[in-house]
Amino acid sequence: MKVKLILPALIEAAAPGFLAQFAGEGRSAARRPIKYSLFPPLGLAQLAAFLDVEDDVRIVDEHVERLELDDVPDLVGIEVYITNARRAYAIADHYRARGVRVVLGGLHVTSLPEEAARHADTVFLGPADQTFPEFLRDLRAGRPKARYSSTRDRSLADVPLPRRDLIRRELYLVPNSIVVTRGCPHHCEFCYKDAFFAGGRSFYTRRVDAALREIDSLPGRHLYFLDDHLLGDARFARNLFAGLRGMGRLFQGAATVDAVLRGDLVERAAEAGLRSLFVGFETLDPTALRRAGKVQNLGRDYDRVVRRLDELGVLINGSFVFGLDGDGPDVFERTVDWAASRGITTATFHIATPYPGTALYTRMEASGRILTRDWERYDTRQVVFEPQGMTRAQLQDGYWRAYRDFYSLPNIFRAASAHTSLSRSVKHFAYSLGWKRCEPVWDWVIRARALTRTRPLLEGVLATVRRVGELAPSAEAEPRRLPVVETTPERAA
Ligand code: SF4
Repeated sequence: MKVKLILPALIEAAAPGFLAQFAGEGRSAARRPIKYSLFPPLGLAQLAAFLDVEDDVRIVDEHVERLELDDVPDLVGIEVYITNARRAYAIADHYRARGVRVVLGGLHVTSLPEEAARHADTVFLGPADQTFPEFLRDLRAGRPKARYSSTRDRSLADVPLPRRDLIRRELYLVPNSIVVTRGCPHHCEFCYKDAFFAGGRSFYTRRVDAALREIDSLPGRHLYFLDDHLLGDARFARNLFAGLRGMGRLFQGAATVDAVLRGDLVERAAEAGLRSLFVGFETLDPTALRRAGKVQNLGRDYDRVVRRLDELGVLINGSFVFGLDGDGPDVFERTVDWAASRGITTATFHIATPYPGTALYTRMEASGRILTRDWERYDTRQVVFEPQGMTRAQLQDGYWRAYRDFYSLPNIFRAASAHTSLSRSVKHFAYSLGWKRCEPVWDWVIRARALTRTRPLLEGVLATVRRVGELAPSAEAEPRRLPVVETTPERAA
């Protein structure tokens, strides 16, 4: 069977000319932001692992390569996010018109299955680790269903490793992305997670030995865990870090504020090679936190989180949401001031976005505050609902101002100076400049297909970081001293 698995370009990646550059129309003026060349489509590689070895499978990621549309595979599978939905449906309609069987899955399909079903022969709701193999069995028996909903028997125990051989590593800055859990133990109002995992388990892990085997199979030293909450299951994480400790790896991941403060798990992570962490601070206002259901952050000392990670030599990518109920027009300056003064390395700002299927959407819809159902505008950079404590214009302008201010040279310098050691300040400064103020350089690197050669350069730019108070390593300690490879890309989500 000939199978084509497609990740259509997100609308925010598809600036005018972005797709044209893959369409044989010569060099385009559109710049290619590095954040769309970070991670390969691991979810599609995971689906490919369920197919037979005799199947002819191809994965196409429209962010990094041209999508040919003149073929006629036996099966096309498309991953649908909210801001690539229109493009995904157009591709689906195109292939169906050619008589190709088309299946759709992903976050947006799970939120709005009726909308997606108009463009597909089959839709998948929720994680497809159990339902995609079931679909393949039905397909081979000649009776595929129109809808597969994951509600029972969710597990990663028997899930094969993703087909990384189908991924073109050279097109990505961080090809060693990896996922060892599904979901998250928390229930934030604005998060897709509860909608995607509705009707069954919403947090579970791989077996530790399987995760370590997968890690062992990856070349190089650097890993990026794309799990929503790497520290969410303390026992799993502790065993994972114990196994990782002897492997000489360096990794990045995401975790919550409370997990950083609880017990000594984050120390074990740092010993195992953790070098940067995406942390969902979201807001400094307890009222806004409570209303957003982010109760795990309530009463937590954010300053302690930053100090603890800094002492461990772990850089922080802080996530912040603007426009939550309870936010006023001063939220932007207060947030940027806090982040810069505490030494947050990179910040990801979002405008609160009520994705369909989430509790936030239900609440906003019930109170008549949804402004548009043009899903392409749901990119967390545009105001799509009526804010409460400020005007739409204040929210929109404040969002862009926060980015400008946080990444201004004075604030980069201020944030870099907040660290407890000079080497970390230098690393922070170099990293922030390189990451956030060198887009034209990244654009050139991507066009020149030179990302692979950039990785060692990044390693060289970023200095080795050791824990505060740790002495220069002795000869005995030498084997455990790891150089730092830092990339700290923004999370895709
Ligand atoms: S926002 Fe983060 S912590 Fe909250 S439910 Fe989603 S993944 Fe979990």
